[in-house]
Amino acid sequence: LITPTHSIIKHTEKYGARNYHPLPIVISKAEGVWVEDPEGRRYIDMLSAYSALNQGHRHPKIIQALKDQADKVTLTSRAFHNDQLGTFYEKVCSLTNKEMVLPMNTGAEAVETAIKAIRRWGYDNKNIKEGMAEIIACEGNFHGRTMSAVSLSSEEEYKRGFGPMLPGIKIVPYGDIDALKAAITPNTAGFLLEPIQGEAGIVIPQDGFLKEAKEVCEENSVLFAADEIQSGLGRTGKTFACDWEEVEPDMYILGKALGGGVFPISCLAANANILSVFNPGSHGSTFGGNPLGAAVSVAALDVLEEENLVERSQKLGNYFKARISDIDNPKIKEIRGKGLFIGVELTEAARPYCEKLKEKGLLCKETHETVIRFAPPLVISEEDLEWAIEKIEEVLSA
Ligand code: PLP
Repeated sequence: LITPTHSIIKHTEKYGARNYHPLPIVISKAEGVWVEDPEGRRYIDMLSAYSALNQGHRHPKIIQALKDQADKVTLTSRAFHNDQLGTFYEKVCSLTNKEMVLPMNTGAEAVETAIKAIRRWGYDNKNIKEGMAEIIACEGNFHGRTMSAVSLSSEEEYKRGFGPMLPGIKIVPYGDIDALKAAITPNTAGFLLEPIQGEAGIVIPQDGFLKEAKEVCEENSVLFAADEIQSGLGRTGKTFACDWEEVEPDMYILGKALGGGVFPISCLAANANILSVFNPGSHGSTFGGNPLGAAVSVAALDVLEEENLVERSQKLGNYFKARISDIDNPKIKEIRGKGLFIGVELTEAARPYCEKLKEKGLLCKETHETVIRFAPPLVISEEDLEWAIEKIEEVLSA
């Protein structure tokens, strides 16, 4: 029997490059935390498009902002000003406590922007000799798929056949303060890290690491750049994962939920002494800072505040983690997480569990073979969370 789901997958796979291995489900409608396939089966979304859907699918306020702005102007390019960008800048500055913002579209582009900013800052402010600037990154990181983002990666499969890689990168074990100290030289311009590693499987550094790393960076005039693309905007139960250690990074790299699950928008937020390294002609993007994205993002950030999604993530996350920690199964090696950002590490492959959960109406995705990541939209109701926990208990119980 050929169902719409089958024929859609077949059609898609016929023409598309196979750079993903999706679960065999087609989503044709979505609202809040629920999605629906063409046969009308409903599933709860516990992945949230890798945390880009913190505000839920099609949040009415964000969709309204999209529609209203679409009726006015969508794209100007930065050759001209638009009347939405200033409000977006101000909103991000007040959220991050930074003086300036540089808008891009995708996460990887914001990481590229950070790398350029770090390097130029190193040459202009630290007098590093041209061509010698170094950036330190962490083992297990994920900063995206562009050439410089994969150059930062310690994962062979992300790099195989794509070389030569970007030079001037050093990798240190994640959470190892001594390794960080040892890696810093007078040519080190920046330390780039995820305050909690997402794609690595929700890996949380030891308590105190972020604070100490920030101090080490300050002492050595090294910029501390936090990639909060996945961990930021409420996901971990704080506005930013750095807040857990009261660390203010020199740069925030934001994306994903910044666009409310509606529009790709990312940015770099930092003080003027850093972002002023960019002069006209040194960096840009045709769509970066477009009025449609700016209007959507302002609404997305309003929703985060108005619906107390940060507090909600912390409260529901604590409950969720406690409940699944009670599951008795020797195949569960470790449960890690902060807020609604939870990884369950198994002693065996996670994918069959994700497939079973899908059969029960719960969508999630394995990361790094043995970890199931649970990251529902932060708008999830207690009732829906309870429903999800029951399914997880059924599938994960021995
Ligand atoms: N940085 C982090 C921490 C991420 O989790 C991701 C995406 O998963 C990226 C960067 C790349 O973002 P994008 O896929 O929008 O390029």
